[in-house]
Amino acid sequence: MITLKQVESWLIETNRILQEKKAYLTQLDQAIGDGDHGINLARGFQEVAKNLSDQSAPDIGALLKNVAMTLLSKVGGASGPLYGTAFLKMSTALKDKVEAAPEEFARALAEAADGIQMRGKARVGDKTMLDVWKPVADLAVQQGDRLSWEALLQCSLKQMESTRNLEAKKGRAAYLGRRSVGHLDPGAVSSHYLFEALSGTMT
Ligand code: ADP
Ligand code: MG
Ligand code: MG
Repeated sequence: MITLKQVESWLIETNRILQEKKAYLTQLDQAIGDGDHGINLARGFQEVAKNLSDQSAPDIGALLKNVAMTLLSKVGGASGPLYGTAFLKMSTALKDKVEAAPEEFARALAEAADGIQMRGKARVGDKTMLDVWKPVADLAVQQGDRLSWEALLQCSLKQMESTRNLEAKKGRAAYLGRRSVGHLDPGAVSSHYLFEALSGTMT
């Protein structure tokens, strides 16, 4: 079972990685965007981590709802509403749960990926964060109660890498057309950090 404590640890670990990679994410966004992705996410998750230490949520759903609200109000840009939607969908899927079975958690990830897709109207292959979220969530659902965090991590890494040779079809990078090829998508990289933290926390 995945516990409330583990979900908290996941978010704290995500924040740790994002603070460490803030400059790198910004550099990636400088190449094909406006150079604020690292700053946006570091600001949002810093606040998430602060709220975690200030107050404790009664269950996973409530915790993830707080995270969603914080990200919606603090991150900004294109990624703020998308990450906010992802966490809001997860919170609904895990409403009132003090712990979650692996297949329930997998379903929540799938809801999150669908939320990103609905909100951003991107498809897999458009060189966005969805390129990481959707295949990772699909794999998690496919694995069900035999969830392998290592397999999810490998999938996430591979998907993140796949964005390098894609042409951006959504978001700011799409304005560059073919010139976006050869660069990793910043949102795919930050999404990979989220799954790296998840895999690290759960194993
Ligand atoms: P902004 O582009 O507004 O400055 P950020 O730099 O914080 O916002 O986030 C950029 C990231 O958001 C991109 O790298 C991409 O992964 C993601 N993104 C942008 N538009 C979309 C979309 N329509 N669907 C999914 N993801 C998107
Ligand atoms: Mg940006
Ligand atoms: Mg911006």
